[in-house]
Amino acid sequence: MPNLMLKGKVIITGAIEAVTGLHIGGAAAGLDIGGIDNPVIRHPVTREPYIPGSSLRGKMRSLLDKHLGLEANKLIQRWKPAVRLHECDDEEKYLQCPACQIFGVTPGDQRRDWNRLKPSRLIVRDVLLSQTHEATRRLREAKTDLPFTEVKWEAAIDRITAAAVPRQNERVPAGAVFSPFEMVYNLFDLNGTGIDNDIRWLTHLFKAMELLEDDYLGGYGSRGAGKIAFRELKVLFKSRAYYEGEISEPVVLGEGNTLRDLNVSQFGEKIRQNLGD
Ligand SMILES: [Zn+2]
Repeated sequence: MPNLMLKGKVIITGAIEAVTGLHIGGAAAGLDIGGIDNPVIRHPVTREPYIPGSSLRGKMRSLLDKHLGLEANKLIQRWKPAVRLHECDDEEKYLQCPACQIFGVTPGDQRRDWNRLKPSRLIVRDVLLSQTHEATRRLREAKTDLPFTEVKWEAAIDRITAAAVPRQNERVPAGAVFSPFEMVYNLFDLNGTGIDNDIRWLTHLFKAMELLEDDYLGGYGSRGAGKIAFRELKVLFKSRAYYEGEISEPVVLGEGNTLRDLNVSQFGEKIRQNLGD
């Protein structure tokens, strides 16, 4: 029987700034009279826009898959548009695959006899609009088209007659700040085989964050939307000793206002020194 032991958690927190307008699609507003074509997702109670953890996580995974050159071997939607992603279907490959180990694979029958399968390491929480940042106050006071958002009109232009077909999409304006974001990276020891790979692969998570800053989150990225920046970063390590109350404070692995300020290459060593076993 597999024996899985949690050796500690790396917790990354900070803020996400929308450097350009941000569109993460919500449910179509087709039933709302006067609803717009492409609304953003909003919190059901506060009606404030937010960033779903799944959007953040999915985008980071797809960027890491591409960075590592992984095969998009799994078809999850057959009808148009076809959606393909990467998921190792061979246990030996899986053991060497940072993307599948960090972000997980679906269990399913196919993997029933794998005995070195670990749970996904990464948890990404939803990120709400900051309740303390100056940017939110300005957004509240601004007379935007809809609460907290702008409606951006675009047009497809006929190449001969220049006739335009207008379309609209809703965006959170540039400058908005979502905070706090939180990502949790678990270090798991399976059957006493250690956590060397878990520690080593932590750097891939920061790489995925950096790739995301140079890509886009949400929709309309190739047309200007979705550039984000991670800010006010703090990376903590909580060991078993911390959860057992033997030490009162988590270990600070790194702090800084941008990803580049973090000394990610040092994190592994700091974790090893503070594992407490
Ligand atoms: Zn894989």
